[in-house]
Amino acid sequence: MQIGFIGLGNMGAPMAANLARAGHAVTGFNLAGTGVEGVAMAESAEAAAEDRAVVITMLPDGAALRKVAASVLPAMRPGTTLIDCSTVDVEAARAVAADAAAAGIGFVDAPVSGGIGGAAGGTLTFMAGGTDAAFAAAAPLFEVMGQKSVHCGAAGSGQAAKICNNMILGISMLGVCEAFALAEKLGLDWQRLFDVVSTSSGACWSVNTYCPAPGIGPQTPADNGYRPGFAAELMLKDLRLSQDAARSVGGRTEMGAKALDLYDAFVAGPGKGRDFSAVLASLRD
Ligand code: NAD
Repeated sequence: MQIGFIGLGNMGAPMAANLARAGHAVTGFNLAGTGVEGVAMAESAEAAAEDRAVVITMLPDGAALRKVAASVLPAMRPGTTLIDCSTVDVEAARAVAADAAAAGIGFVDAPVSGGIGGAAGGTLTFMAGGTDAAFAAAAPLFEVMGQKSVHCGAAGSGQAAKICNNMILGISMLGVCEAFALAEKLGLDWQRLFDVVSTSSGACWSVNTYCPAPGIGPQTPADNGYRPGFAAELMLKDLRLSQDAARSVGGRTEMGAKALDLYDAFVAGPGKGRDFSAVLASLRD
């Protein structure tokens, strides 16, 4: 398939490389001008999108998506598909979906879970929003870049699923960090706490798979000096998106609001450039 790929950063570059490795003809464009193995680089986003059956974007935020979509949609033919894999606000996803529909172009918002490792290994999870036809056009590519895709509903539903998931993650990680910090002060051995919680009702991804305590559970950023991983800045971005979305529909997300405050302070202080699980280190200090 002829694919245009715009935004070849930490996530986009390995995703585009996997598509090329699977035999697709991938033309890429990135602001920073970096190259990716197997991907032909274009002069502009428009040039990367012209005559392509599918265009994929992997950009920092909604403003970048709106900007790129405004230049790329006019270069695409009716009947083709634009897939945005960035994490952006629901509103931006719906606005781009409407512009695409007006031009006869399919649109799927398909943010991902799985991080840089998942992007490199082709094991991402895609949460997708859009029409059945647009999802059907995108699904074979999700299979190359990931191991699972869920069609969540109409345009914007993929972003809604992503920010709800990450709101749970932010809140649960803070809870786990507080519990491990408290356990230490109570003289409770972390390994014993892990042995209990990981098989009890407190079990969750933040304990079992991504334990913030160094030397406990599977290998995590905690065992690597809290180098990301999933940077605290990215968690803060996603918590902002979920609070903005909650405000726009009158949703009550008080724990989400508290998590946003805590990560905001963390990123402004000791959390800058560190993994989002490093909250435990600052609670111990
Ligand atoms: P990144 O900053 O490494 O990459 C973004 C790329 O987009 C950059 O290379 C930049 O040059 C390019 N870009 C920006 N504006 C552009 C434009 N107008 N035209 C062309 N290229 C442009 O970010 P990333 O880590 O790859 O993340 C991308 C998206 O994926 C974000 O929305 C992020 O929230 C989401 N995400 C990231 C992770 C992660 O672990 N890094 C995990 C899940 C989701």
